Amino acid sequence: MGETPCAENNTIKQEQTERFLCSSCGGNMVFEPKKQKLVCLYCSNESEVNFEKTNIIENDFYIAENTKNKNWENEKRIIKCESCGAQTLLDENSTAQFCAFCGSSHIIKTQEVAGIVPESLIPFVISKDAAGVLFSNWIKKLFFAPRALKSNYNMNKMKGVYIPFWTYDSHTFSDYTAERGTYYYVTETEWVEEDGERKQVTKQVRKTSWSYVSGDYSKFYDDILINASAQINNHIISKLEPFNLKELVLYKPEFLSGFLAERYSIDLKSGWKIAEEKIESDLSGEIRQHIGGDEVRNLSFSTAYDAIKFKHILLPIWISAYIYKTKVYRFMINGQTGEVDGESPVSTVKVMLLILAILAVIGGAYFYFSNK
Ligand SMILES: [Zn+2]
Ligand SMILES: [Zn+2]
Repeated sequence: MGETPCAENNTIKQEQTERFLCSSCGGNMVFEPKKQKLVCLYCSNESEVNFEKTNIIENDFYIAENTKNKNWENEKRIIKCESCGAQTLLDENSTAQFCAFCGSSHIIKTQEVAGIVPESLIPFVISKDAAGVLFSNWIKKLFFAPRALKSNYNMNKMKGVYIPFWTYDSHTFSDYTAERGTYYYVTETEWVEEDGERKQVTKQVRKTSWSYVSGDYSKFYDDILINASAQINNHIISKLEPFNLKELVLYKPEFLSGFLAERYSIDLKSGWKIAEEKIESDLSGEIRQHIGGDEVRNLSFSTAYDAIKFKHILLPIWISAYIYKTKVYRFMINGQTGEVDGESPVSTVKVMLLILAILAVIGGAYFYFSNK
């Protein structure tokens, strides 16, 4: 941000942006999660945003893949601010950003964005203040975090970001072959040596009888959620889930005012590959269940997908990074539910103390039982 792009470089594209200006003072209005309205940062004037839940459509996967799917390659883009006249270089995957000079919120007009545009989103429910409280509670509960961190973290870098996601629906039809195992028990006798005497004992031994099975299995998958941002770690995202997708509303740039927004860096087709892996791993469990018996082995199945549909959506996440002893740690908050997760530094002193405490308990128990 803040670099002045070279005017001769014709690979730079100027994006048209939308801003929301206050009708009474002309200031920048931003979406306020606590009020679920646009609020002027200067005079507190408010303006309603229209929440539309109907008409959120599922799109046909193959039609979009052939016509609109897009991979952006090192495309340089700028926005020009009408409030102060400054130009701001856009981050590679950004679709909503702030003017580097006056801080006003700019949202790329959806018709200017090549590729698949988000048609719905979940607006932020958790405000920046609430996110700050959630984070400080989280960090205070971290047993292994160094004490210095618990009192010195910096909250100023908390950013509200709309992260792009795909959701996929599909009918699946699978043909499978496997072997089903059923347990049965036989009585076996054997000779054992006990106190110098040979004795005959009988025992129950479990055996498995295997039979070949084949068949078909079908299941409908609805709204398989796939992160479309390569910047955001899937592991953390999965800990922030679930999002309540019933609260999706039709996309309107007003919801993005005051936040950052990213465009997808994992495209529609790559997203579907990840969804397919999720579905097949689920199907493997489902088919085993369907076959029944006590055990299943050598399962092999092939799946046909029909009527694949998708939605491209934006989900709200509060993100912050903090530096502790020259290392960067990230944490995130689900902007809809307030679920918190992140990486944290570990205090080696506290880990050592815990290990010593465990050893002391084990040692104490040994001492107690060996003297009984
Ligand atoms: Zn105003
Ligand atoms: Zn500006």
